[in-house]
Amino acid sequence: MSTYTNFTLETDADGIALVTWDMPGKSMNVFTAEVMAELDAIIDATVADAAVKGVVITSGKSTFSGGADLSMVKSTFTFYQDEKEKSPQTAVQKLFDRVGSMTGLFRKLETSGKPWVSAINGTCMGGAFEMSLACHGRVASNAKSVKIALPEVKVGIFPGAGGTQRVPRLANAQDALQMMTTGQSLTGSRAKAMNLVHQVVEPDQLIPAAKQMIKDGLKPIAPWDEKGFKAPGGGIWTPASAQLWPAAPAILRRETSGNYPAALAILKCVYEGLQVPFDTGLKIEQRYFTEVVQTREAFSMIRSLFISMQELGKGARRPAGHPKTELKHVGVVGAGFMGASIAYVTAAAGIPVTLIDRDLEAAAKGKAVCEGLVKDSVGKGRFTQDEAAALLSRITPSADYADLAHADLVIEAVFEDREVKKAVIEAVEAVLPEGAIFASNTSTLPISGLAKNSKRRADFIGIHFFSPVEKMMLTEVILGKETGDRALAVALDYVAAIKKTPIVVNDTRGFFVNRCVLRYMSESYDMLIEGVPPAMIENAAKMAGMPVGPLALNDEVAIDLSLKILKATAADLGETAIDPRHMELISRMVEKEGRFGRKNSKGFYDYPPKPAKKSLWPELKSLYPQKKADDIDITVLKQRFLVTIALEAARTVEEGIVTDPREADVGSILGFGFAPYTGGALSYIDGMGATAFVDLAEKLARTYGDHFKPTPLLRDMAAKGETFYGRFDPYAGAKVAA
Ligand code: NAD
Repeated sequence: MSTYTNFTLETDADGIALVTWDMPGKSMNVFTAEVMAELDAIIDATVADAAVKGVVITSGKSTFSGGADLSMVKSTFTFYQDEKEKSPQTAVQKLFDRVGSMTGLFRKLETSGKPWVSAINGTCMGGAFEMSLACHGRVASNAKSVKIALPEVKVGIFPGAGGTQRVPRLANAQDALQMMTTGQSLTGSRAKAMNLVHQVVEPDQLIPAAKQMIKDGLKPIAPWDEKGFKAPGGGIWTPASAQLWPAAPAILRRETSGNYPAALAILKCVYEGLQVPFDTGLKIEQRYFTEVVQTREAFSMIRSLFISMQELGKGARRPAGHPKTELKHVGVVGAGFMGASIAYVTAAAGIPVTLIDRDLEAAAKGKAVCEGLVKDSVGKGRFTQDEAAALLSRITPSADYADLAHADLVIEAVFEDREVKKAVIEAVEAVLPEGAIFASNTSTLPISGLAKNSKRRADFIGIHFFSPVEKMMLTEVILGKETGDRALAVALDYVAAIKKTPIVVNDTRGFFVNRCVLRYMSESYDMLIEGVPPAMIENAAKMAGMPVGPLALNDEVAIDLSLKILKATAADLGETAIDPRHMELISRMVEKEGRFGRKNSKGFYDYPPKPAKKSLWPELKSLYPQKKADDIDITVLKQRFLVTIALEAARTVEEGIVTDPREADVGSILGFGFAPYTGGALSYIDGMGATAFVDLAEKLARTYGDHFKPTPLLRDMAAKGETFYGRFDPYAGAKVAA
């Protein structure tokens, strides 16, 4: 009888104990304090039991494990905050001891004296792979679902349970650095090629192969505990290392602009750790980990990219009291650029889709786009031929609205034209069953205005996708004035089904993401007009942490679309609502120069045929007298980009468009890549403090214009010493209920 909650333990006739990790009530195994305690007890029990010759550890779920549990990560931060309040002198020591507990546990496993083999049957991430690395043998299944990664750097920390010491003692240092500083996923065979797993086998051979390793006499000693061990390539003091190490910090700086302390800490752990005995290396790792956990970057990234993202994905904003909707049939009207990919992601989630356009030919064209996407995915090994065929069989092109008679949800993605949308809304509602939801994918038309064409406004909502739909993880769910809770619940159930992260925002021109993005691009127009060299504009943005420069982004979005938006804004809100210099620049680009962006290979960049790379349009420099680069402060350029976006995000909160700071943060990172190390646009403000932010904004306003003036909300927060997460506490409701 097993005495464990999260594991079962069965010893076979050969004396091999099979430890199966299978946490009750969870879809995925994760490390919790209880799991660690049980694993500790299992190590003791297997050591004490003379009948046990070796141990195979595997998972009872389809995945192996996702690594650390949300609550465990969260509690590390609250633990440190609490300790700091009690006694700043001892807090760091206590944090150091705490972060070393997993390292100690895995080292205990590794030195237990009995051979352990990890049988990796599915996704194996973070702490779970670090545990596997402490096992003496590793066998991975060759199933497509096996992904092996140490992805901690993506949330601002790094593999701190021995990962930075074991990986470069197995793989060569360059591959080890690449794996850990990018957090990339490896297939079983890539992990084997890197020497991180010993065998890759058919799924049904996993346990037999793992057991066989023990039967074949696997030594219960890690390579680094053997006398005379040398790291692959001979360690640090070799000619090959002399090529790698001087360049490594420069390469990292090129990739991260020095914005990610965790990535640099990985370099230090590997470089320093490889020069000392293994246990000293673990101590070095523990010290850097303790340091990184205290950084603002780690705190903010964990909060937004791990905790908030998971909470939003699991329906943090879903209204209570509405049972979960299992969508059986979705309609997509408009089989163009967006509609086709919406149909694709819906079908990929296993939901049958009717894809409607003005005629069958246009609808079939949309399906052909899906076929192209499926082909790509098969090529990349994401789908098998059978899965691809099943996906495509779920998409039915049609020109007949009657085919929507059984839809639970219809999403329209027709032309951005009020009259066209009105006609579509009426045609859909004529056949839509009672209780089904209508969603618009409009990017600029307010939802409440479109809903005026609807007879069932409570069931009318916005679901705003981002292009390319199959890649972008975010969707904005827009509430019109009369949108009901059930429509929101269904929309969120749909977004969860297609595995995207939703943010829920109230209706406004541009919603949340596009309002912020327009500020980013508009700041680059100001800079161009001031005579900042275009390359400096793009580089400053990237150094600030933006993945794509504003001019390149504008090319992707299309410059003629920017012109349309400027014209529409002037028409709707008056000429004073836009900057005439921006209008002059953008209309010149489009109307005089014929530069529409990437779509016609001519924008702020030139796009020569592949494989040549895009380069900034040389004539751009001649549009305005150029300043000398030496006369421009790059720090100020960086600040201008982040501050103008953060101010817009703050305005959306002030106007009640965004009500939960998690959504502004997650939306800004997933929607347009707002400097992820900040934790998002509002965390950027919270991180430096409202007072410092207001001072900075005022300073920028004096030189660069009124759009930098801090808003009344920010001034009030600065006066009261508040943060967004304090003033708009996303957990306030839960605390009241508790
Ligand atoms: P598109 O021109 O590529 O596609 C529109 C499709 O709608 C065309 O296939 C057209 O034949 C079809 N259509 C037009 N009138 C119709 C009708 N009466 N009945 C059925 N089908 C009809 O446009 P798109 O870029 O896919 O944009 C569609 C919507 O998505 C717009 O509202 C746009 O604002 C929004 N949107 C676009 C993007 C983007 O990046 N392009 C991003 C988010 C949202």
